[in-house]
Amino acid sequence: MTILRTAALITLLACAVALSDLAADRNASTRDAAQPVDPSIKPGDDFYQYANGGWLKTAVIPEGQSSFDTRAILAARTSQRVRGLIQSAAAAHSAKGSIPQKVGDYYASFMDESSIEGKGMAPLSDEMCIISAINSKASLSAYLGSTLNTETDGLTGNADHVFGVWVNQSFTDSEHYVFHLMQGGLGMPDREAYLDPSEKMAALRVQYQAHIAAMLKPTGVSDSETKAARILALEIRIAQAHAPDSDAADVFKQNNPWKRADFAVKAPGMDWDAYFKAAGVADQSKFVVWQPSAVTGTSALVGSEAIDLWKDYLRFHLIEHYASVLPKAVAAEQFAFYGTIFSHAQQVPERSQDAIAATNAALGQAVGQLYTERYFPPEAKARVQAMVSDLMAAYRARIPTLTWMSAETKEKALAKLATLRIGVGYPDTWIDYSTLQIVRGDAFGNIRRAEAFNRSRNLAKLKQPADLDEWRIDPQIVGAILLFSPNTETFSAGLLQPPYFDSQGDAASNYGSAGVGMAHEISHSFDELGNIYDAQGRLGNWWSADDLAKYHAAAAKLVAQFNAYCPLADVCVNGEQVLTENIADLAGLLTAHDAYIHSLKGKPDVVVNGLTGEQRFFLAFAQRWRRAQSETALRRQLKTDKHAPGEYRSDTVRNVEAWYKAYDVKLGDKLFLKAEDRVGIW
Ligand SMILES: [Zn+2]
Repeated sequence: MTILRTAALITLLACAVALSDLAADRNASTRDAAQPVDPSIKPGDDFYQYANGGWLKTAVIPEGQSSFDTRAILAARTSQRVRGLIQSAAAAHSAKGSIPQKVGDYYASFMDESSIEGKGMAPLSDEMCIISAINSKASLSAYLGSTLNTETDGLTGNADHVFGVWVNQSFTDSEHYVFHLMQGGLGMPDREAYLDPSEKMAALRVQYQAHIAAMLKPTGVSDSETKAARILALEIRIAQAHAPDSDAADVFKQNNPWKRADFAVKAPGMDWDAYFKAAGVADQSKFVVWQPSAVTGTSALVGSEAIDLWKDYLRFHLIEHYASVLPKAVAAEQFAFYGTIFSHAQQVPERSQDAIAATNAALGQAVGQLYTERYFPPEAKARVQAMVSDLMAAYRARIPTLTWMSAETKEKALAKLATLRIGVGYPDTWIDYSTLQIVRGDAFGNIRRAEAFNRSRNLAKLKQPADLDEWRIDPQIVGAILLFSPNTETFSAGLLQPPYFDSQGDAASNYGSAGVGMAHEISHSFDELGNIYDAQGRLGNWWSADDLAKYHAAAAKLVAQFNAYCPLADVCVNGEQVLTENIADLAGLLTAHDAYIHSLKGKPDVVVNGLTGEQRFFLAFAQRWRRAQSETALRRQLKTDKHAPGEYRSDTVRNVEAWYKAYDVKLGDKLFLKAEDRVGIW
């Protein structure tokens, strides 16, 4: 999981690990069985090897990768499924206006390279004329307003156009959406690419300038080299105004409420009336400006820089934005810079790969409907919901027992638990695409219409009450989204598949794998990360200083426990660096175990393949973390990752009494911890 504390938003890369059997049609007996264990290992000596030894012996890291785990397996499997669904839709020629027609025609048009080639640069001509007609600060501002994009969110550091908007509840008012205005306008990914004085980055800027010139050429722009140099210089000035990355680590710095009238005073240069009118939000009164320096700085540049320079900048970015549906030479130039130079890609990806990504980006929930109809039926959703309800019951029972939390803070935690919304699989209400026209043979028009559709859909939300059940992740993505503001978590259908979750499989394994993963994420709402947002997702600490001190004191033991793990002769785990995630693992394991017991309703679980329910629960947990990785990848993880290597995450069981009982682990076994050495934060 990746945590971006900075923003209200947290993305989760799928939590973790396990699966050797890729076959979708496994029979009932393998479905119910836990993954084969390594019988030569005693569970109490090395639980990770006991659970994963067999798999690790045969796992092969794919060429060009540095690691291989369950997430990689699920991502590959899901992307194959999505590819199949989209390509079938394209072949089917379904009824006009239907979801398969939109998905299929979007893909087919993107794949129709001869049609794209035949149109040349003509699709851009209308907008090029609008840019050419800019002759004043007002018309420049209006054009910039018309490009305001909504493809931003709390994780975006640089919107595609000079600014981006994210429509979300405000940091202080959970009832209403506000207009979160974000910095943007840089062609390279971030500020550092423009300002880093190192030789390497200076060389990159030279290459970027050549790329700008190459992109301008096919439109017949004269003197493209000189213009490219000026465009780069303008972007460097925009980058200077962008907030430094260190600001992004502090969400309190992003909470800058501005009223409409503040823009003219705090950010002169732009004609803000013209800007907001063209953006379609002339009557919007409340804004949250995430990076005031970027708004002030970019606006000043609108006032100070020559209109002709801005027009060249806009022409370049227009071509760049639509390169994927312009003639091959343009797309190839874009790949030469962003793919080869920037990302060190060895070869151009197949067109179909880009077409699938573009279809997902434009019609995410339409593809999601096709995906879930086939791979995640309502019964699967109902079974996950039942597990979530057990997890919530477990948290309700466990929070009052916490020793480090004061009675007053526990009240607040329980209130926050009560308002937490958890979405699983797919949304109850899908995005209504009925007004979006997708036309076969019109790749450019399809992108334009999809962008306009998404933009007006987002801006329309400004006039509606905040919808806590809105989905921010597509069901076909292997992942989850944890939002503190609003107080919601969403786990996609792509994530909820075997071996994490099997809708027809063994409950003990489901609770031990997906259940622990979900409980881990829920715990973040109540830990040091979640402490800065209240039950309604409003910004502000709700723990007392005493809670914080006691929490840290209790956590010290876990830091020491992980500091003692040394996977390489010269490197040990940094217990402090991985502490927050380790606490969440412990909370997740304990609470999901409570939930599993709760789900049995007093009946004993059956024995499957010689393993009790308790054993399968912990086994599935250890199998979550299996990963084959190169030593280089391991060293990188130890140095930078907030998550410990899988083996040690699996060893979280050492702190859990029920694991000792399940596997009869005793004094003398290598993983045995005396009762006083076990960590009891949760
Ligand atoms: Zn986490």
